[in-house]
Amino acid sequence: MREVVGACPLDCPDACSWIVTVDDNDQAVKLRGNADHPFTQGGLCVKVNPYLKWAADPSRLLSPLRRTRPKGSGQFSEISWDDALAEIAERFHGVIDEWGGEAIWPYAGTGSVGWIQGVIGSGKRLFHHLGATRHLATICSVSGHVGMSYTTGSAAGMDPEDLQHSGLIVLWGGNTLTSNQHLWPFIEKARARGTQIVVIDPVRTITADRADVHLAPIPGTDGALALGLMAELGRLAAWDEAWLSAHALGWEEFRDNELMTWSAERAAEICGLDPAQICDLALAMSQAETTGIRVSQGMQRHAGGGQATRVISCVSAVLGDFVRVGGGVCYSTAPAYGLNTAALNRPDLQPHPTRSLAMTRLAHGLLEVDDPPVKALMIWAANPMISNPDQDRVRQGLERDDLFTVVVDHVHTATTAYADIVLPGTVQTEHDDMHDSFSHLYLNWNNAAVAPAGASLSHTEIFRRLAHAMGLDEPALYESDDELAEALLDSDHASVAGINLADLKRTGWARLGGTSPYLPFVEGFPTQSKKFEFASTWGERQGVGRLPHYVPPLEAASLGEGQLALVSPANHHILNSTFSGSSTHQRAGSAVVLVHPDDAASMGLVDGDVVDVENGRGSFGATVEVSTRARRGIAVTSKGLVGAESGVNATVAERDSDMGQGAVYHDNAVSLRPRT
Ligand code: SF4
Repeated sequence: MREVVGACPLDCPDACSWIVTVDDNDQAVKLRGNADHPFTQGGLCVKVNPYLKWAADPSRLLSPLRRTRPKGSGQFSEISWDDALAEIAERFHGVIDEWGGEAIWPYAGTGSVGWIQGVIGSGKRLFHHLGATRHLATICSVSGHVGMSYTTGSAAGMDPEDLQHSGLIVLWGGNTLTSNQHLWPFIEKARARGTQIVVIDPVRTITADRADVHLAPIPGTDGALALGLMAELGRLAAWDEAWLSAHALGWEEFRDNELMTWSAERAAEICGLDPAQICDLALAMSQAETTGIRVSQGMQRHAGGGQATRVISCVSAVLGDFVRVGGGVCYSTAPAYGLNTAALNRPDLQPHPTRSLAMTRLAHGLLEVDDPPVKALMIWAANPMISNPDQDRVRQGLERDDLFTVVVDHVHTATTAYADIVLPGTVQTEHDDMHDSFSHLYLNWNNAAVAPAGASLSHTEIFRRLAHAMGLDEPALYESDDELAEALLDSDHASVAGINLADLKRTGWARLGGTSPYLPFVEGFPTQSKKFEFASTWGERQGVGRLPHYVPPLEAASLGEGQLALVSPANHHILNSTFSGSSTHQRAGSAVVLVHPDDAASMGLVDGDVVDVENGRGSFGATVEVSTRARRGIAVTSKGLVGAESGVNATVAERDSDMGQGAVYHDNAVSLRPRT
């Protein structure tokens, strides 16, 4: 037996470190959390505990496949790697010759968020060299990142671990116990000192159950709530005027032109809350020594998501909390990692500037873009048939006969059914990778523990072999995974100073360098003025307003007769669509829609009714559960579920949020029609 240190690759803030036990036959026989990791501390989660069983399931893809029947049929026959790569190379060359490199769309998803194998790294060098369309990874968190860039300059405002020192904790727009569970012990440490925990979420989640206070605003009204809170903090004389005058730009302009128009009452009306709830929270903030705000991705997936995150960051500023341990706001720690992305991805290999397409607008890209049209699509670590908005139009796009589609995956998915060629990829225990986190400040390394199953190959090896099959002689396309890792670490950023690959491989993790405790804004903000920017000339130029303000959701706050605002948060048992439909993850269940008892009564619905959840874009079937977990006026289902029919994303608009071309999964008006 031997033990190999690794890391979870999934699209989860926690980025757990793990230990794989390998037996004398080189089989991975046990997976457990790495107790030495300071943030994840030895636990994994219900999603990943069965990972080895899932990876060894007979449904695993072990050979390249070529489609034998019409797109969507899911009928394939096995072919060799040589034949598969030769066919892809020939088709890619044909597309480039006729339409140019931009007619190829390299479509990487967050099935792995690794720097080398995942959405950030693998394949970028090859597709840059080919002059392909640049793929914008907009599916998850981009609106919040852009929103905070206007005020703080970085989404990494505090170390979430420091919530243990907070005087008040606000978990805003996320279900921590499902989607950031290793943060919870730090929260409990604070609670043990008497810290109050507040959850802001339209749904009474399992996290809200454990909170002291739960506010359930109408989805997408978080910006109004933050403005109402700040106005009330002013009434309580809790603005930190001394800090604001020294460290903020445009405070008076924001205060006099925006904040003065707000009150707890105005915010409460927009948010569907009682004004007393807002006043009570503001009072708690004013009395706490520090307020730690953990903003999660859920609250920015609507029309005004970027602006909402921008406004929430102002709450920490008016409290003067950014320079206090346990105070401030953290949306994502990812910007704290100063890895050398350019050395990894080599944008300099592009023969000329190329266009970009946003991954959340795949249907648009496949059905409407014609300059040039997308003629070849290579998808890895992604299942857009399940994960993308406007599922029915995504299907139409993937059905195009003139589109050549390659999909790399571990098992057949709703997307592989539309591929011309399917390639078997390795799972995390079979390849090396490097991982950051969006909830902690440790760099993780994943060592391959066992040989690839069957003929599966890592993403990086697939792209090296494809480059060879295409006859490309650029040396950068053939660098090993270790060379890619060294390129990432070749950075003069303080966060990675002193981290070397050999040690990282041995320990599996390393704390980022820099300030300890982590107070990134003590010496100034990474904005042009080096101050917290209430007033932003850049924001003005970008058309998102000089001042932070409230942008309402497009659909969720202006429902038609009989409509509900549908939100689709994470399922506790699967990760996005990863593991969905697998025999090892049956506890994910099938589609359920939660409806408040008052709404159910007005629609004549009872527990167990089967309904079509529908709007003008599409519909999906779900079983009704009447529950006060859903606030009045909303419906709640979970994302990522694979079923025989269409899923929740058939009803979601393929529309951009206000910033960064983010998706609007939680800004979705639907009706429920009972099936007869
Ligand atoms: S999904 Fe998240 S919590 Fe679960 S093992 Fe992976 S990183 Fe850890």
